[in-house]
Amino acid sequence: MAQTLIESDRTHVLPLELDKRYPVIVRGEGAWVEDAAGNRYLDAMSGGSMAATLGHGRADLVAAARKQAETLSFVHNERLTNPAQEQLARELVEVAPEGMTRVRFVTSGSDANEMAIQIARQYHLDRGEPDRWQIVSPAQAYHGPTMQTLGLTGRPGLQGPFGPYIRQHLHIPPSTWRFDPTGQAALDALDEHLRSTPISAYFCEPISAAALPGYTPPKRFWEGLAERRERHGFLVIFDEVVTGVGRVGEWFAGGQTACPPDMIATAKGLGAGYAAIGAVLVRDRVYDALAAGSRRFTLGHTWDGAPLPCAIGLAVLHALRTEGWIDHVRERGRRLRDELEAALDGVPMVREVRGHGYLLGVSFVDPRNGTTLLPWQLRVGAKVDDACFRRNLITLSTQPTRDGFAGDQTLFAPPFPTPDDDLAEMVERFAAAVREVDAAIEPLLAEHPDAER
Ligand code: PLP
Repeated sequence: MAQTLIESDRTHVLPLELDKRYPVIVRGEGAWVEDAAGNRYLDAMSGGSMAATLGHGRADLVAAARKQAETLSFVHNERLTNPAQEQLARELVEVAPEGMTRVRFVTSGSDANEMAIQIARQYHLDRGEPDRWQIVSPAQAYHGPTMQTLGLTGRPGLQGPFGPYIRQHLHIPPSTWRFDPTGQAALDALDEHLRSTPISAYFCEPISAAALPGYTPPKRFWEGLAERRERHGFLVIFDEVVTGVGRVGEWFAGGQTACPPDMIATAKGLGAGYAAIGAVLVRDRVYDALAAGSRRFTLGHTWDGAPLPCAIGLAVLHALRTEGWIDHVRERGRRLRDELEAALDGVPMVREVRGHGYLLGVSFVDPRNGTTLLPWQLRVGAKVDDACFRRNLITLSTQPTRDGFAGDQTLFAPPFPTPDDDLAEMVERFAAAVREVDAAIEPLLAEHPDAER
């Protein structure tokens, strides 16, 4: 019989965690995936990492891939270009925030973020400001696992043993209800950095994914950021690896803030789980500086802009446009948030359900006071994921961070075409899991002193 669970000592794969057992998923359809024994799981996380935005088993995307592969799968974009890359760039510019007119294709979210950092650096060099290289970003962030993107997070736990390799950038605290509800403390921290350091760029997610599920800073912060960009000449780069290409009910979240970005890095939704592709969208004024300056930017990876992933990207954009998923996600997302809120009503450890479109987050707090974070030793996020998994529901939770900027939280990010009855089933299973964990931790809390507010 086919194996349904794989353990680390019985596989040649070097798994992410050696003490975990991994279910072997063999097929998927819509918002469901199935393991080798035929057990079906509801996928509230679009493939586990928010990439499968259009769901599993899309025949149109497979057909587009096949057609392109049969014609021309690969050429490298250093000396050659191809129609799929050219067309995808044109179509992305059409749906991007106004003024974004150039696109560089890459192969992942981290690559997109790294590329944006490098383009920002070249922009300042070409303008004759070689001192500008440092980036400011919110401390509570995740921008990828590469050495450069690890430097964009202020979470020492994420950087782990790699500190010696990582260029440390500058950080500001998140403007959450807990630390800085108005956004002023974050602006003050940014001012402090601006006083002492020539800054290349401010780098952030417009709406956070895993690091602070569904969170966006207050309007005052965005306005203050825009004022400071004007005054100090740094660039604003948005990591839209998750939010880009429909996830929050807009093509890009960046155009909606009071501080439109100079560059957008995007990835997951562009390939929708069918291709490893990302992109950096560049505003005119950044391109103009490169065009008037060095006129070359030659770093890149082998698969950047190759015909096969670009053809899949084109088919994804076509499906989003012709099937109307972005409007659907915007409108249905509001109701989904309300439904989650109603299903979790009265659960003492639930503090907040927040987010936009199909990027929703549920945050948990100590039920004894409703404001402090839960003791990390209770591993509430992991317990919620386990309780969901026992109900054949796939979720992703974030654990508390050492600096205390974030506690236990769960992401809720289903594929866009998930039918109403599947969404209802997800909400019901999730609420049952959260209630189970809430009841289970109650007696355990006594062993942990009630933290101060
Ligand atoms: N940025 C954000 C906000 C992400 O959520 C992720 C991945 O989860 C990344 C960047 C890194 O993307 P990738 O894993 O494709 O390198």
